[in-house]
Amino acid sequence: MLNENIIKQIRDYADKNNVPIMMDEGINYLTNYILENGVKRILEVGTAIGYSAIMMCGVNSDITVTTIERDEKRYLEAVKNIKKMELEDRIDLIYNDALEVNLDGTYDLIFIDAAKAQNIKFFEKFENNLNDNGTIITDNMNFHGLVDKEISEIESRNLRQLVRKVKNYKDFLNYNERYETVFLDIGDGLAVSKKRK
Ligand code: SAH
Ligand code: MG
Repeated sequence: MLNENIIKQIRDYADKNNVPIMMDEGINYLTNYILENGVKRILEVGTAIGYSAIMMCGVNSDITVTTIERDEKRYLEAVKNIKKMELEDRIDLIYNDALEVNLDGTYDLIFIDAAKAQNIKFFEKFENNLNDNGTIITDNMNFHGLVDKEISEIESRNLRQLVRKVKNYKDFLNYNERYETVFLDIGDGLAVSKKRK
């Protein structure tokens, strides 16, 4: 069982420091998915301060997570949090840009929750590490509700670019012949992609 006090401290830290950790609805979906599908080995792209990695580990004592973070401050905070939770044996934390990381292992679940503009690259890189019955889940598919808006309605140019990228990723998933994807209106929007048989 996870220590609820420490979990609360991690959530408070995220709140105060604007760290975009998963919302309750999303994390509940994810942990249920792990439980119901007997997921054991997880790869996460985008650790932030370790919140989702810790929550996923909390489902069962035989779950392991490999998770990647490129921001030093967040990485260091994640190291602290994982230590506090005594999950150092089960969470392998990698400090690097995910696109530079090459992994040999295979995973039952790959959770993509990093730079939204790079989702296609993350998917294409790490699908090589997915088990045949594995699933890739991507967070923030609604991009704070902006994906449903007309691009021309969005004022900031940077934001328009990002929203375009999220839409491109949606198309990439929709037209992907190897994967079947379901989009769920949970939290900030999840994409659940499974290999076609
Ligand atoms: N999954 C976390 C939240 C992740 S927030 C949770 O729910 O608790 C997204 C994180 O991805 C940020 O901390 C950001 O620094 C990291 N990130 C973005 N692009 C990355 C990349 N290319 N490689 C590694 N980390 C990346
Ligand atoms: Mg997210």
